[in-house]
Parts: sequence; C-alpha cells; structure tokens
Amino acid sequence: MTRITVAKGDGIGPEIMDVTLQIILAAGAKIAIDEIEIGEKVYLSGNSSGIDSQSWDFIRTNKVFFKAPITTPQGGGYKSLNVSTRKFLGLYANVRPCMSFHPFIGTKHPVMDLVIIRENEEDLYAGIEHQQTDEVIQCLKLISRPGCEKIIRYAFEYAKQQNRKKVSCFTKDNIMKQTDGLFHQVFKEISKEYPEIETEHWIIDIGSAKLADTPEAFDVIVTLNLYGDIISDIAAQITGSVGLAGSSNIGEECSMFEAIHGSAPDIAGKNIANPSGLLQGAMMMLHHIGQSDIAEKVQNAWLKTLEEGIHTADIFREGISKQKVGTKEFAAAVIRNLGSKPSILKHVTFRNNTTMFLPPYKRKPAAEKKLVGVDLFVHWKETNPDKLAEKIQNIKTSGIKLSMITNRGIKVWPNGFKETFCTDHWRCRLIPEESTEMSQMMIPELLKNAFYENIEVIKTENLYSFDGKAAFSLGQGQ
Ligand code: NAD
Repeated sequence: MTRITVAKGDGIGPEIMDVTLQIILAAGAKIAIDEIEIGEKVYLSGNSSGIDSQSWDFIRTNKVFFKAPITTPQGGGYKSLNVSTRKFLGLYANVRPCMSFHPFIGTKHPVMDLVIIRENEEDLYAGIEHQQTDEVIQCLKLISRPGCEKIIRYAFEYAKQQNRKKVSCFTKDNIMKQTDGLFHQVFKEISKEYPEIETEHWIIDIGSAKLADTPEAFDVIVTLNLYGDIISDIAAQITGSVGLAGSSNIGEECSMFEAIHGSAPDIAGKNIANPSGLLQGAMMMLHHIGQSDIAEKVQNAWLKTLEEGIHTADIFREGISKQKVGTKEFAAAVIRNLGSKPSILKHVTFRNNTTMFLPPYKRKPAAEKKLVGVDLFVHWKETNPDKLAEKIQNIKTSGIKLSMITNRGIKVWPNGFKETFCTDHWRCRLIPEESTEMSQMMIPELLKNAFYENIEVIKTENLYSFDGKAAFSLGQGQ
C-alpha cells in the first residue's frame, strides 16, 4: 500500500479526478489517499501561494503527489502553484508522452509516438521580472549547468530504459548563445556517454514546425522549460486532443503526476471533460510506485474503450466514433473493460517499477574567473546615443573607458544607425583601458560619479571571463 497525496483542483479537476481514482481503484491500485485543498479557493482566501503549510506537510511526507489541474487567478500577483510545486520539491524532469491512436482517434498524424522531456525548474520560469524604466521590463532567464546536466542525463537514461532510439535536443542557441548554448553544449557532452542512442539538435522554431508537420520523425525530445511547455501542448493536441496526455514531474525525492492540460473552466461542471490525460498521469504514478501491473490493466482497458468508439466530446468524430459520452460514462466503460485488451491498437506490457535513480550532480572544479568590465544599465529619456556617450564619458573613472552603448541589445554607439528605434533603457559597456586591470572597486566609483552627473543607473552587470573565455554576449552589430 502506498500513501499518496491527492488534490482535486479547480474547473474540471474534481470531475476528472473522481473518475480517475474510481478507475485505478477498481483495477486494484494499492493506494491510501490524503486529500488536500489547493488552488483557486486557497488563493482567493488571501493566500497568494495557493497552498497552506499543512498541505505541504502531506506532500513532503508522502512524496507522491497526484494533482488535478488548478486555476491560477489572473493578475493580483498570484504565483503559479504548478511552477512553485515543481521548484520547491526539485521536480526537475517533466515527462510528457504523446502518441496517436489511429484509426480510433482522428489525427493527421497516425504514427506519432514521442516523449517530450522538459526541464522543469529553470529558464524564464524563475519568474524574476522587474520594470526598470517607463518603457522596459525585464525577465531573467536563468540556466544552470546542474540543471542542464540533470535533465539531459534523465532524457538519455529514459531513452535507454524505454528502448527508444533517438534523443533530439531543441534550443535557440543561434540567438541565446550563453544560456541555450550551455544546454546544447551539455547535450553534446552527455550524448558521448550513450553511443547506442542517435542524437540530433534542432533550432526550436524549425524544430517545432517539423514536430507539428512530421511528428513521426521524433522519438525523445529534450528541451528547456518554456519551449517544452509550448511544444508539449502542440504535440498532445495533434494526437487528437490536449485532453489525452499526462505527465510526470520527477525529482530526487518527490514526484508529482498530472494531466498536461489546464482546468478548462469553459467546460467545468458539465460532465463533458475527457479524463484520459489525468488517467495517463495516474498510470505514470502507478509505474513510479511499483504497481506497473495495475497500470498495464488500466491502459489496456482504456485502449479497448477508445477502440470501441466510446469517446468524449473533444475526440468524438462522426464516422470514426460510435458513441459520444460524458466523463462519468467514459470512466464506466473503462472500468467495464478492465481485464480486456485492445484487438487492433497494440496492447501494452509494462515492465515492473520504472523508477529511475540518477547519480547526484557532482560540482565541477571552479574555473579561473576574472572581472573584465561592467555594463551599466541606464534610464535615459532622450534619443541621441552620441549625447549619452558624452555623458557617460564624463563619469569616466580612471582606468576604465566606454566601449559600446546598446539599446535592447542593438549597438547604437559608436557608429549606430539613425534608423534604429531606441527606448529609454540603455546598456553602457565599460572596460578597462589598455594595461589596466579591472577591479571590483571601480564599479562603486562609477556609480558614485554617475549619481553626481544625474545619470540614473538602474542596474549593473559584471562582465567576466571564465578560463580566459569571455562569458557574456556582444552587442548585436558589435
Ligand atoms: P486548458 O488546458 O484548461 O484549456 C484549453 C482548451 O482545451 C479549452 O478549450 C478546454 O476546454 C480544452 N480542454 C482542456 N482539457 C480538456 C479535457 N480534459 N477534455 C476536453 N477538453 C479539454 O487551458 P487554459 O484555458 O489556457 O487554462 C485554464 C486554466 O488552467 C488557467 O487558469 C491556467 O492557469 C490553468 N492551467 C493549469 C495547469 C495545471 O494545473 N497543470 C496547466 C495549464 C493551465
């Protein structure tokens, strides 16, 4: 018997959770349930995190969390509970299998069978945003080497364990050379340890186009958090419905299982939602807790139900489907089919206990880190960069010189284009003069001089080299 924590969530959450639990319990799942309340009601009661401390205690004690979708109220500064749960519990791997069930579910992609492994803790989802000037807001994209190594190793281990042949890496490292560049670099390094697995890299834009057009070309895809979020909805949708896919969120200690879709408030309370996505999440949970025999029984009954043409409204197609049913009726059909196998769709045989234990991350020896300059970010309302350059040169601190000004990343000084549109947010790069060593103390000196010159510095960013290699981006056009 495994004790798990269950949250029924918002919108369609309670309807699909109730029937999912009915199905797996009818199949013989050996689980004891602690139910917690999270989401909209908790947010609206004034708790901006959407969860109270007692619920965290259940989740952390039981370690296995089965969660229906929740609604994050718009505006009002509410933090997404999904994102916080993944990060607080260190659930670094988000695994999202997407396959089509041709000819029983209408899809343009009859032979699709892929798994998206999405990094789950980093990227723009750190949610660190600041408005810095009247016109410009920034969001920090944080990518770490441990984060990349953990998710990429997980993808290769998953491919090996599931007997999959290829791992494709999706990034945008032609633009984000440092952050996405690290992800791609780590992918190349780790792939060498798995010579039996084919590898490839796609730039995310054309990779997504290829995925939407020819999903059968992919097997396992590993990617960063934001890209993984987007492409997994696309992949699920093109199998026939976003309501079909489940996901697991795996960490070193805890795990969380869910559907990939949201709380679908537009169809809540109508008994029309498809519970299949959450049911897929439940089956991933059953594997994880060593009850693969139950997962196998449920998956075969579910496939048989799809084959019988008993479909919820989202996958119902005239000419393909036989009977349009509601959430409860669909679940009843799956329960009736427990013990049966599909006759045309391939029935599944699951090996026991698919939990993977990966070695913990080992920190690398520190590189030789050297301060080689500083970027001053300035709020300045005028539009002529030559004038700003003059002002910055006035605050010059001995031994340091202005090398470049950019606006939204584009070099506008020296030799900018008058056509370039400029906002009120400027980056001024200062570097040491020849034969001068940059020192940390030059920065407060610069800030003090800027203050006396009435220049509003909204932040500074140190420029470093690591083992002699510049570790910051150039200005576009530099
Ligand atoms: P959504 O996934 O809830 O809905 C998108 C569309 O798909 C809707 O038309 C909906 O009716 C349909 N749909 C979704 N699941 C379905 C199912 N099981 N059966 C049939 N149709 C289904 O996305 P959204 O509308 O952008 O988001 C609604 C809320 O869900 C938001 O508050 C959002 O923050 C939240 N959300 C939660 C999670 C989560 O808890 N993991 C994930 C995504 C979105």
